[in-house]
Amino acid sequence: MTLEAQALPELLSRGDVGMHINGEAVAAVGGQWLEVTSPSALGKFLGRVPRAAAADVDRAVAAARAALPAWRALPATERQKALLAIAESIFAHAEELALLTAADTGNALRTQARPESQTLGNLFRYFGGVSTEVKGVVLPAGEGQLQYSIRQPVGVVGAILPWNSPLMIAGMKIPAALAAGNTIVVKAAEDAPLTVIRLAELCAEHLPPGVVNVLTGYGEECGAALVAHPGVDKVSFTGSTSVGRVVGSAAGNRLVPVSLELGGKSPTIVWPDAADDATVDGILTGMRFTRQGQSCTAGSRLFLHEDVYDDVLDRVVAKLKGLVVGDPLDERTDMGALINQTQYEQVCGYIREGLDRPDVVTALDGAAQVPTDLNGYYLGPTVFSRADNSWRLAREEIFGPVLVVIPWRDEDEVLAMANDSHYGLAAYLWCHDLDRALTAAERIESGWVQVNQGGGQLVGQSYGGVKASGIGREFSLEGMLESFTQIKQVNVKLSPARP
Ligand code: NAD
Repeated sequence: MTLEAQALPELLSRGDVGMHINGEAVAAVGGQWLEVTSPSALGKFLGRVPRAAAADVDRAVAAARAALPAWRALPATERQKALLAIAESIFAHAEELALLTAADTGNALRTQARPESQTLGNLFRYFGGVSTEVKGVVLPAGEGQLQYSIRQPVGVVGAILPWNSPLMIAGMKIPAALAAGNTIVVKAAEDAPLTVIRLAELCAEHLPPGVVNVLTGYGEECGAALVAHPGVDKVSFTGSTSVGRVVGSAAGNRLVPVSLELGGKSPTIVWPDAADDATVDGILTGMRFTRQGQSCTAGSRLFLHEDVYDDVLDRVVAKLKGLVVGDPLDERTDMGALINQTQYEQVCGYIREGLDRPDVVTALDGAAQVPTDLNGYYLGPTVFSRADNSWRLAREEIFGPVLVVIPWRDEDEVLAMANDSHYGLAAYLWCHDLDRALTAAERIESGWVQVNQGGGQLVGQSYGGVKASGIGREFSLEGMLESFTQIKQVNVKLSPARP
């Protein structure tokens, strides 16, 4: 089914879609606009969004600062009510949000966009639920003493989003920041701004003006101005490691706290005792093939034990051949389109390099799976076998549907290869001997390890990377406390009661 054949979200008929400052849809101060076009139907115009620059950042930060005193002064139960009301509104508009995100990201409606809009609702529900858990501690300091700590909001949060799963990542930041009493200015990714604007509109129905603001525009222009703005007290960034370094340096220079959720090149390791169908399905899920591999947590380096190498590889390839590449809005589609031309060409470059190497076996060339009548940035699943861990395709984040498969025999050696990466975001261990699996989980250098499962994050889990995959944790109560509150210690000497 095409976009026209669906009940079109109203936002797609607006033409000019204002960004969201102080509870209102606004254009950029400079009057400039960016065109948003479909990655899955080339040339299809979805709308124009403002090209925000420093003056717009000023307005949004001023709105967030003005809203801060009243919002942080509310009882936590009032913030909770607002977040829970937004969660219900998200669930009520889940299909609209899913259609919008499928349109602007190219991610398939059935396999990606619908689950993502549900996760967004779940995250608002979760952080609404835990908003009363922002507690301090009292020290047992003895009689005449009241020594206690309180957790306070950091202030105005500047949040920067990537395009690959904009709703889920907005859901990692907005409700967590708000639950703790902060206000927020979000910079949406230039390639996927529409759903985030719609989310801001739904939030605005339940919040005072200025509590949530959404800017659209380029990273170097709008994102950099947000990070540099003196009215921003905390930076929460999700995106590539290279931009993360720039953002981290700018925030460090200003001495404001920063959380960085960055890239990955995560290992998937299969032991011989786990060479079964569940593992094969889990390898595909962990690699996020149904998001075209455009996931920071993609298990994109597959280490197969020699004893089961050919068997598991054959089954993985057979499953991948069954994936339907197509229009993201078609219910039959498993894999949609990549986000834009730059990304598409970059991934094609990696694929060409793999195809041209005489020392590597192309186990699956995804080109054959892309129907010729499609007109978008489509690529099929591609698998390179007998790769070496030192090879560029095994080291760099491709961010496309390209899996490299590496043989192993010795456990120490495979763990060394898994850890021989500057990234450390996720890892997937397939092994039914739990002593072995959990020992390996202990030794793996990544922020998130899954054993015998390959799915996405569970709401409430700790989430974040080590090494060049990031700094800080989000997604959970602990993450909210760490990322969006600061501790104040209050030491009181009590006087004896006066007669
Ligand atoms: P990107 O780094 O190119 O852009 C991310 C955001 O940063 C965009 O909104 C962009 O406009 C903005 N930006 C760019 N330059 C900036 C600057 N100088 N100052 C401030 N902001 C700037 O990343 P992307 O291509 O949108 O997303 C893909 C990357 O994100 C991948 O590397 C992926 O691994 C990573 N990612 C990480 C996680 C995670 O949770 N660890 C989740 C999703 C995506």
